[in-house]
Amino acid sequence: MKIPHISASSVKTWNNCRLQFYAEKILKVERRPLHPLTKMGIAVHEAFEKGTKCKSYVDHISEACNSQDLDEELVGKSTELCKTCEDWGWWNGVDDLDHCIPEYEFLVDLGEGIHVKGFIDRLDIKGTTATILDIKTQSKKFSANELKNNLQADIYNLATRISFPVIQDPIRVEFWVLRHEIQAVTRTKEDAMRTKEYLLKVGRDILDHPQDEHPQPTKGNNCRWCDYQRSCPEWQL
Ligand code: SF4
Repeated sequence: MKIPHISASSVKTWNNCRLQFYAEKILKVERRPLHPLTKMGIAVHEAFEKGTKCKSYVDHISEACNSQDLDEELVGKSTELCKTCEDWGWWNGVDDLDHCIPEYEFLVDLGEGIHVKGFIDRLDIKGTTATILDIKTQSKKFSANELKNNLQADIYNLATRISFPVIQDPIRVEFWVLRHEIQAVTRTKEDAMRTKEYLLKVGRDILDHPQDEHPQPTKGNNCRWCDYQRSCPEWQL
């Protein structure tokens, strides 16, 4: 099947249930409205992206919450999370960087017609080193295993090295899990090569699947959030 690109979340969907992937990418199933907590996360991200110049979220959080139509309680929670992020030192050392790039969007060509797309909340570059900062508003923090095998960190590492070949040193990927703590992992050049091989393999599997053939469903935890559930054969029994 032909798709314009893959991403961390689409690879996760492909691995969990190929029918769900097919429903989203090929059948273009109608997506359910975003959960209010997801919208809260979007507002927090927006406030920090827009606050990069003045190094403060304060002037932007109201507008960001309004754009997501958040109720009073969630406006309060968003503001609280933004404050936590600043208190943890989000802007520390920004003036000493060569580049501080908020909301860095990448679309990298891996070859064989396979592209990977994503967004990095903030990419800091100094000399041959880079740090990637990613804001998370989720309720749970990552387990040690989830952190170690984090595909998002893998893809950020690969995309940063392809886009900025000057980066030679290990890259620190920091997840600012605002309801818990900062959780960090390090990824190397060798890790990036392994990630590229893995993504090429997944990309080939996807490309090899016939465009007009519905894949088999795989029932699991992901069914709960699946927009195809009402049409899925697993749920018609
Ligand atoms: S409901 Fe579950 S099994 Fe069916 S397509 Fe969705 S994720 Fe797959």
